[in-house]
Amino acid sequence: MNGKCKKPDRYKSNLPSTSVIICFHNEAWSVLLRTVHSVIDRSPAHLLKEIILVDDFSDMPHLKRQLEEYMTMYPKVKIIRAAKREGLIRARLIGAKHATAPVLTYLDSHCECTVGWLEPLLDRIGHDTKTVVCPVIDVLDDTTLEYHWRDSSGVNVGGFDWNLQFNWHALPEREKKRHSNSAEPVYSPTMAGGLFSIDKNFFELLGTYDSGFDIWGGENLELSFKTWMCGGTLEIVPCSHVGHIFRKRSPYKWRSGVNVLKKNSIRLAKVWMDDYAKYYFQRIGNEFGDYGDISSRLELRKRLKCKSFKWYLDNVYPELFIPGESVAQGEVRNNAFSGRYCLDSPARKGDTHKAVGLYPCHKMGGNQYWLMSKYGEIRRDEMCVDYAGSDVFLFPCHGSKGNQLWFYKPEEKLIQHGSSKKCLAISENKKKLQMESCNSKVLRQQWRFENFNATALLVT
Ligand code: UDP
Ligand code: MN
Repeated sequence: MNGKCKKPDRYKSNLPSTSVIICFHNEAWSVLLRTVHSVIDRSPAHLLKEIILVDDFSDMPHLKRQLEEYMTMYPKVKIIRAAKREGLIRARLIGAKHATAPVLTYLDSHCECTVGWLEPLLDRIGHDTKTVVCPVIDVLDDTTLEYHWRDSSGVNVGGFDWNLQFNWHALPEREKKRHSNSAEPVYSPTMAGGLFSIDKNFFELLGTYDSGFDIWGGENLELSFKTWMCGGTLEIVPCSHVGHIFRKRSPYKWRSGVNVLKKNSIRLAKVWMDDYAKYYFQRIGNEFGDYGDISSRLELRKRLKCKSFKWYLDNVYPELFIPGESVAQGEVRNNAFSGRYCLDSPARKGDTHKAVGLYPCHKMGGNQYWLMSKYGEIRRDEMCVDYAGSDVFLFPCHGSKGNQLWFYKPEEKLIQHGSSKKCLAISENKKKLQMESCNSKVLRQQWRFENFNATALLVT
């Protein structure tokens, strides 16, 4: 542990107590018990008011009588059962309703809390009830179940991209400057979602979660945005470590037929993101479907006099690339082969060296949605089209031009690479992208970049 975390006078003496809320749906026995025991064993008794287990309509037999009988040995543990499958978001709200301590602490059902995890979280809320705090989340290996401790001196903070997907990034310079040592809590634009503590009254003031959100997803961004926009702060506390099993795929059934995450994200964008919502909507082809009634959430925002999304971006997340500051947005369509093919890549942030390929144009955004920045990058959020002499691939944007600089000439329709001066083309067998000596007469080198506006370009 970071030595500075251990200083005895580091935390307030009269910390508020907490209810720890753990929702589960068909969790394995040993994994759930590991979570509960780590909380009981590693939380100071006077700070742990109760543990509320919310069973989200599981059908595994060990989670019924067996669990109840086992937990009679631990009077602090209460089991609440949902009458139908509620999904994680409403299950958390059920837990909150039964909680009696001033602070709510949420954990997933596959965690391990470490020694000293709780005090630094409660200390922040003890100082200011509008501070929402997250521990550093370590990895519990999903095959060996081993705890991988990560040194938190180089802690990451939460962000998001315009697909409204959460991501991690390095602590920005401006935030480093605010601190004198690595044990101090850091501001985070967003939270990962499952593991955090919040003052119960503040959570209620913020209107808890949007109960129109289904099953899973988007609720972490909702709570993050409104925490910041409505007068609070969101922090990651390097002295608090909790391990979490990251599973490769979701082990439980989702409601079929509806895209739950998309519906949640549409509600999120419509309520909180003002004019910036359009960047997300473009990525889903401006197809909304039925996202339910949001009027009460809009009223909530008005009643709390929350700040604008622009304020949030300018002050809390200035590192985020704003698509509106780009010179082209949309598909990049080739003129050869009857104009059927578009630039396409399934890469997401963090996938380095993903090849950029071709696919029949589908007009649904997603993997065919590209942006040209005013600095001549062809971007997918934080990833940039890059050419280093062999294949064309996506690489995290580095902002120093070089292999990520491209020139688009709308008259000739060529996409020319900055450092090699070659032009982007479809191969003759139309299977892949390749770089060729520029020749504007070759159809395979001609591209139409949607919504291109040369006047905004800062490179020529
Ligand atoms: N969960 C739940 N009901 C659901 C889905 C999930 O109670 O319909 C619980 C799940 O058991 C876990 C927590 O919510 O404790 C978070 O889900 P998960 O771990 O799958 O999310 P992830 O960590 O992958 O984001
Ligand atoms: Mn989880």
